[in-house]
Amino acid sequence: MKKNTHLIQAGRGKKWVGQAVNPPVVRASTITFDTMAELAHASQHKGNRVPFYGRRGTATHFAFQEAMCELEGGAGCALYPCGAAAVSGALLSFLQSGDHLLMVDSVYEPTRALCEKILRPMGIDTEYYDPMLGAGIVELIRPSTKVIFLESPGSLTMEVQDVPAICNIAQQHGIVTILDNTWASPILCRPFEMGVDISIQAATKYIVGHSDVMLGTASANEKHWPQLREHSYVLGYCASADDVYQASRGLRTLGIRLQQHEHNALQIARWLADRPDVETVRHPAFSSNPGHEAFKRDFSGSNGLFSFALKQGGAKAVAAFVEGMQYFKMGFSWGGYESLISPTLNVQKLRTASQWPHQGPLIRLHIGLEDPDDLIADLTQAFARYQAAL
Ligand SMILES: *Cc1c(COP(=O)(O)O)cnc(C)c1O
Repeated sequence: MKKNTHLIQAGRGKKWVGQAVNPPVVRASTITFDTMAELAHASQHKGNRVPFYGRRGTATHFAFQEAMCELEGGAGCALYPCGAAAVSGALLSFLQSGDHLLMVDSVYEPTRALCEKILRPMGIDTEYYDPMLGAGIVELIRPSTKVIFLESPGSLTMEVQDVPAICNIAQQHGIVTILDNTWASPILCRPFEMGVDISIQAATKYIVGHSDVMLGTASANEKHWPQLREHSYVLGYCASADDVYQASRGLRTLGIRLQQHEHNALQIARWLADRPDVETVRHPAFSSNPGHEAFKRDFSGSNGLFSFALKQGGAKAVAAFVEGMQYFKMGFSWGGYESLISPTLNVQKLRTASQWPHQGPLIRLHIGLEDPDDLIADLTQAFARYQAAL
């Protein structure tokens, strides 16, 4: 089955949808049983595709979980109220006091905050590593290293990691690998074929695709699924059937949306790369992007998210750039149908184990489904405002 066909088929078996096209929204806390035997059967499966208790999911959840496993290649998929909860749920499922965690330095900032504000006071020691470190990560491994966390590409600065090399080292040392795979969505790479144990998605982004729902997923391979599922459940993570329904719905158009995001973003990224006031464009599909070779090897395409560094400018010039946009809205998150812009004045302040090579401010764009000509016109005006404010 090709990818676009798979996105239509996944999680839509008769068992889940009946005679309808989509799985129904089944909202439940209590699940009721007629006999002791039914209760025992449900208890034994503990909500693994058998209703047990609302927190363990209903048919709406099971259908979406099945779809995610088919698309990402995992053995099971745990659901969370948002992507940040999937990150904390996965890390807390595999770490204990006294453990050492290797965390990529280009990681999504709230993940770093989790390490510093929650994990460190619990006695879990996070050490950050350069995103361009591949097999060299072996030098950082200690007897207490239990998890290596990856995010590829980094969702702000776009370094593509050598995921297979790192996973290979981790496997030799019995270390769990967790990949924040949100940029790729479930279809631009095959995380389990790269050797990852757990693949996280902020479904909030491209899976939902309409900037109106928060949801997270963590898929695991056969070996790690029982612990991820049980620990996440015990921690109390769950997701609403209504939100999961929207994620399931989003999957059907994910392929065609991503194609258009990719097409629009590449056009705009190339336009930016030709501008004299742009220092560099960080787009994984560009040969100048750190880890571009790994991108070509491991990914089947790109999406709408990339960033670029300006040659110069402080807060005033950046404000002139981002204020007064016609189509780009300023705000966090990405993956919806609309274009977004997000400035960072000092990238170096966000990292501790690697050197950010550019002096000027960084601007991240999410290129939506608008006509790219209109977006380029919007950016042209932004550059004029910025130049006038320098
Ligand atoms: C947005 C995002 C998250 C967090 O997802 P939320 O649903 O906003 O909690 C985690 N990782 C990455 C890479 C993200 O972009």
